[in-house]
Amino acid sequence: MLHSFFCQEALQLLSSALLPCRATGNPFSLDMSIFFPFLLLLFRFHVDDSEVTLNVCLGKQFSGGELFFRGIRCEKHVNTETQSEEIFDYSHVPGRAILHRGRHRHGARATTSGHRINLLLWCRSSVFRELRKYQKDFSGWCGECLREKKERQRQSVAATKMELLKREGEAPKEAAKEAAS
Ligand SMILES: [Zn+2]
Repeated sequence: MLHSFFCQEALQLLSSALLPCRATGNPFSLDMSIFFPFLLLLFRFHVDDSEVTLNVCLGKQFSGGELFFRGIRCEKHVNTETQSEEIFDYSHVPGRAILHRGRHRHGARATTSGHRINLLLWCRSSVFRELRKYQKDFSGWCGECLREKKERQRQSVAATKMELLKREGEAPKEAAKEAAS
């Protein structure tokens, strides 16, 4: 009951404030709390089945176990290359938490000594998932969709510039022709 309230109210507010986008602007469902001990586990690079994930380090003595993040991606672009500006590594500190989008690709390095215990909350929004079915462009949050969109815009501007330059080049020729006739 307490965790339901926590996810629905507190995480909703935190997510909307810290990670503003359509995914965090809708109410979360309540099927997402798991208490999880990591003991020398290596989590492969993945995205979560959630809109927002809260990862709280409950502590104990440990070394290693860093999280690494490599850009937010939609389903279509989940395996695309990481850009240098998307590289972010995070070392857990007992008593602190990290809140990230579920579609933020990440993994955890092995805990090299001691015990690390984390609380993970996966928050899902059925409203956002329903809306997502009808969308193709996720440039609001997918790094690769955004890059593709910018590239299309760049090409369109370049084509318009070329067309204008061509017309400017043709105008003097036309004027010369008219003057000669
Ligand atoms: Zn995408």
